[in-house]
Amino acid sequence: MSEISVSPNPALSTQEVVDLTRRLNYGTWRYQRDWNPLHIADAEGCYIIDGNGKRYLDLSAQLMCVNLGHKNPVVVESIAEQARRLPYIAPGHTTEVRAQLSRMLLDVMPEGLTKFFFATSGTEANEAAFKIARLSTGKSKIISRYRSYHGATMASMGATGDPRRWPAEPSVKGQGFLFAPEVNCYKCPIKHTYPQCGIACADYLEHMIENESDVAAVIVEPVVGTNGVLVPPAEYLPKLLEICRRHNVLLIADEVMSGWGRTGSWFAVDNWGVKPDILVTAKGITSAYVPLGVCATTAKVAAHFDDHLFAHGHTYEAHPITLYPAIATIQEMQRLDLVNRARSMGEYLGPKLRALKDRHPSIGEVRGLGLFWAVELVKDHVSKAPLNTRQEKMDGKPLVVDRVAADMMKRGVSVVAWISHFVIAPPLIVEKADLDFAVEVLDASLSIADEAV
Ligand code: PLP
Repeated sequence: MSEISVSPNPALSTQEVVDLTRRLNYGTWRYQRDWNPLHIADAEGCYIIDGNGKRYLDLSAQLMCVNLGHKNPVVVESIAEQARRLPYIAPGHTTEVRAQLSRMLLDVMPEGLTKFFFATSGTEANEAAFKIARLSTGKSKIISRYRSYHGATMASMGATGDPRRWPAEPSVKGQGFLFAPEVNCYKCPIKHTYPQCGIACADYLEHMIENESDVAAVIVEPVVGTNGVLVPPAEYLPKLLEICRRHNVLLIADEVMSGWGRTGSWFAVDNWGVKPDILVTAKGITSAYVPLGVCATTAKVAAHFDDHLFAHGHTYEAHPITLYPAIATIQEMQRLDLVNRARSMGEYLGPKLRALKDRHPSIGEVRGLGLFWAVELVKDHVSKAPLNTRQEKMDGKPLVVDRVAADMMKRGVSVVAWISHFVIAPPLIVEKADLDFAVEVLDASLSIADEAV
């Protein structure tokens, strides 16, 4: 086989890479003037490496995706092997990898999810979920919640409860989404206190269902991701499922971020024994090495399409190069026992993060599950007002969390910062020494936030 090089000769300098990217590409979810992307030349295990050879601990697993760590050789090889075997076939045909992966999903997904649609992103998988929910029930409205993110296209953006929806608002209005308050026991949007509330936020949602006609489904992130790792109280999801069942409304679990061991269970809903009608996932299914999203449904939902048109599909659906690495990823997760590892490492990390709260007045709350944590910053502990607001983020104002994150980068740790919190979600292969280092750096950099309080 002839050798090819994707790198034109002479190779670009780091500065040229950055300059060309800034000039010729869009930087997403940001003002372009502020975009100064870091040139990443390599990555291994829990570390990413920039064009100058500097290493950074990847404390958020690159958008909470790379659960297996970087450059897992088995998954890397699976991509090459599938490319050699069969790089593409139209989705109306089938392949052995498609059949094998589907059978494997039956074992790891919550019981009852037995029919799968393979897409190439979380967004696309959510779009499929909305269409399936609407077509199979013959109803149109979908209830989502504030402080949620479900994707960047029209319907999934319409379902998004966080400010990323605002600029798209004129065009995504009319997509049939309604919003319920998020579940946030630290700062309850309906001013209740757990556990005396009796899970009033679920009752609120039931009230919406009762007062709206035509509700097809409720969509939730079982543990809210980018919007601050909001872990619901144990009663919430079982109660919500019971409400949905009673009103004949489907429950869609968006596990794009919370799935694949992140919370110390294969899927976040497993923590509470909840079996949704539809589950959507992506990211960790291949550690994001290749783009794969899945929309999984029960047989009951799927039965509708036996004698009705399944009016959906993509050119890249069930793409073989995305499916074989998912098989490799699941096998690697099982071999390395990563689901249990996420739980036990979370038990190590959680108390360390919580201890930071005593030293930093800027920390309002530390919360999490498994290897999925948030550190939320506030102006003061009484009002719990965020250090920066959503409006400031949308207006492109400098944010305290970004200054803290930049300082952490200087010290060798890469972290996701969003409005007024950090998402701490390292690869599930992370070692205790890495976590010690991460907490040490966070501790040092948080002095910037303390000064802003
Ligand atoms: N749903 C959730 C919960 C997510 O966290 C994301 C992305 O972060 C999406 C959907 C959209 O997935 P993608 O970016 O793969 O389109």
